[in-house]
Amino acid sequence: MENQEPSKRPTVVIVSGPFQGHLSPMLDLGNVLYSKGFGVIFAHTVFNAPDPSKQPDLIFLPMQENLADHQILPGDIIALVNILNKNCEEPLKKGLSEIMNRLEPENQVVCIICDMFMYFSESVARDLKLQCMIFRTSSASSALAYHALSRLQTEGYIPRKDSALDDVVPGLPLLRFRDIPTADMGTLQDAIDLTDNICNTRTSSAIICNTVDYLEPDEIVQFQHIYPVHYFPIGPLHMIAPTSSSSLLEADTNCLIWLDKQAPRSVIYVSVGSLAILEKEELAEMAWGLASSNHPFLWVVRSDAVPESEWADLIPEGFMETVGERGCIVKWAPQKEVLGHNAVGGFWSHCGWNSTLESISAGVPMICWPCFSDQKVNSRYLSHVWKVGLELDHKLERGVIKESMQRLMAGKEGEEIRVRANDMQHKMKMSVSEGGLSYASLSDLVDFILSF
Ligand code: UDP
Repeated sequence: MENQEPSKRPTVVIVSGPFQGHLSPMLDLGNVLYSKGFGVIFAHTVFNAPDPSKQPDLIFLPMQENLADHQILPGDIIALVNILNKNCEEPLKKGLSEIMNRLEPENQVVCIICDMFMYFSESVARDLKLQCMIFRTSSASSALAYHALSRLQTEGYIPRKDSALDDVVPGLPLLRFRDIPTADMGTLQDAIDLTDNICNTRTSSAIICNTVDYLEPDEIVQFQHIYPVHYFPIGPLHMIAPTSSSSLLEADTNCLIWLDKQAPRSVIYVSVGSLAILEKEELAEMAWGLASSNHPFLWVVRSDAVPESEWADLIPEGFMETVGERGCIVKWAPQKEVLGHNAVGGFWSHCGWNSTLESISAGVPMICWPCFSDQKVNSRYLSHVWKVGLELDHKLERGVIKESMQRLMAGKEGEEIRVRANDMQHKMKMSVSEGGLSYASLSDLVDFILSF
């Protein structure tokens, strides 16, 4: 199937949500499936559309989502997802029907693979008599935490008093209540309603997950128990996909030149991903924490990191003069190249799932500072289960930042963490190589799609 002639390729439709952390693994999935001999239609919203010129093998299908008719506050992902599920169904059905009418019989569409957030795709699949599969962009562990929300509410465990947030969650012994992904915007009920939609497999025949079996074997078994459909843990996709840029923002590659001048494993890379919103005071505390450590740092400060503030005003006065050449600040970094650079010795991260996988696959130890949703689960696993990261107290304080950086970058504890990180990197490479579990799972997925 790998060397399938272009004229003979059966076609798979991928429907992605408009978030960097969803577009990247779903574009990777598209490119992997193309390399396995499928034609790939990539359906995406007009808002945050990927650049087709960077993905020459995929056919792009824009869905007009009409966001302009709605007022969505920055960071209100629940509201955004609800609107997408109302407004994208018709554009997907219409656009896909038109393409299907033009395709030769041997290239016909065999299935839809939809982002877990774009669950409206299932009814489109049903109407067009196609199989549907769900793609989960997060870990099995966080899926279990989401799945538990409804039960925890019914049993009266949540909402929870601040004083009881360190209690262990019944049924999820590795997590505390503070790690549970409850609402950051909207009400707890809004979060549970969304979670119910995300966790409902409806008529889908399979779940594909961007995770690695060895990272969370018990959680994957529990996950399969809850969802009795086919399950394919095929991650991390960025290690399998042919390299292509899926970045919505232009990465500032000057930071790679700056990295070239730094000593091996001396630099701490700092990024809170594509969505997290910070208070101006938090940013200032981060800045002075970085300044007070002796380590070189590469810091991503997005232009929208603090809503309604000018980027130039975000960096405290006198900061650049204090740190001089020791610091490099960019608005967006080529993260995978940065993590792969030998000057980088640590990653202070918000622990988004993609950043987590990218850091582990590069063998880079982490400082974990989760902001919202599944990041809290990932942070707990990184720091207390896999033990390749240090947990930073959520309330940022420059003294604590300095101390954490010392512990990770210089101390004995940091050295032990680094040894474990290298070991995990090795296991991750094994997983995606011939004989590895992700490799085998991907072959199974290809066979499964061909069976439709
Ligand atoms: N990223 C990047 N440059 C940056 C910051 C982030 O390329 O300066 C990429 C990163 O490599 C990852 C994605 O953006 O693939 C962020 O996804 P993640 O799941 O870690 O977090 P989210 O943005 O969804 O919170």
